Amino acid sequence: MTFTVSPKLDEKFTTLLFWLDSHQLRHQRSNLDKVNLTDDFYNDCRPHIFAFQQTRKQTENLEPVIRLSKAQKDELNNHFNQQQGLDIKGDDLLHAQKNPASFLRELSWQQLPNEVLAFYHPFHFTAKEQWGIYLNADEILGYCDRMYAQSAHLRIWNKEILLHLLVFDIFQHEFYHHLVESAATHMEVLSAAFGQPRSIYLDYKKRQYNKQLSHPHQPLEEALANAYAYNALSFICRRKIGYTTAAVRTFQQAIKQGWKSEPAGYRDAALYIGKRNIAGNTSLLEQMLNAPGCANQVPLSSISKNLMPNGYSALKSKPEIPTYVIGSISSIAKLNEVIPALNETYTQLFWPYNHSEQDSQLQKELQRYKMGSV
Ligand SMILES: [Zn+2]
Repeated sequence: MTFTVSPKLDEKFTTLLFWLDSHQLRHQRSNLDKVNLTDDFYNDCRPHIFAFQQTRKQTENLEPVIRLSKAQKDELNNHFNQQQGLDIKGDDLLHAQKNPASFLRELSWQQLPNEVLAFYHPFHFTAKEQWGIYLNADEILGYCDRMYAQSAHLRIWNKEILLHLLVFDIFQHEFYHHLVESAATHMEVLSAAFGQPRSIYLDYKKRQYNKQLSHPHQPLEEALANAYAYNALSFICRRKIGYTTAAVRTFQQAIKQGWKSEPAGYRDAALYIGKRNIAGNTSLLEQMLNAPGCANQVPLSSISKNLMPNGYSALKSKPEIPTYVIGSISSIAKLNEVIPALNETYTQLFWPYNHSEQDSQLQKELQRYKMGSV
């Protein structure tokens, strides 16, 4: 028997892509510079591919978003220190934090499905230097203007902070699509280890495209992507306190109410928030394995809770996943101006604005609330 001390195939991502290629598990049809936009295959993301091609005509190199150094972040904090522009008072912040549904009352955002604003281009479909997440600056800025117009009267955020919240939400949704592709890839590798490599991802996408997947909340992947972004916001609330918590909880409630206006699948996200994502992800694993009902006999739920798709099973982490901003040059510049630390914003909800006044007002209100005087 021969033991593997140093396997010939290492853990590098490029090795994985090479292996997928050599087993015909990827196809190369969609080099984004060359795709034929009349092909029905691109129905869902045609406007983004058009935006990509236009952006490439205007900029020599389309570079992925990069992380800032600690010194650069500190410099931003100093630069933006005085620019908060918030005039919400402590009692309203307490209301927003404690009962966002009542705080929002009749707010009903006319939300767009995420793929109008951004898209994930899988590495199974494309030239390897083009896969990743694409944020469409024109669409995102226009969307933020419309959402702000509908919610400005609440004063819980200004337009800059709302844009940060939207970009975080949009990115997290698209990152979920990477988690799904990562999960399928792990299955492909494991299937080959059992002797017969199976095409999991391309076959699953083909069944999805041909509407051969049956589930009451189809496309289930979109419902789960919306829910994943919502859950990522909950995680931020656990780490940050003060004004940010009130703003994030209000934003979560607003998007939850807005899901109702979205297309099938997307609109069903509320059924999969919190721990309910486990059941949803179990159904998605059944879809990827093309084994409907299999979770009744095989504990796939254990896989969905502990293994994949979840943040730890991603082939690329959030800060590392190639992410590009596309659109008109003026919109790209505007997005970068308002969100000067884009990578930190979409991964951690960093913003450089000072809201210490709102933080302390909320703290005082929370103290009064605990004492029973509110
Ligand atoms: Zn999506």
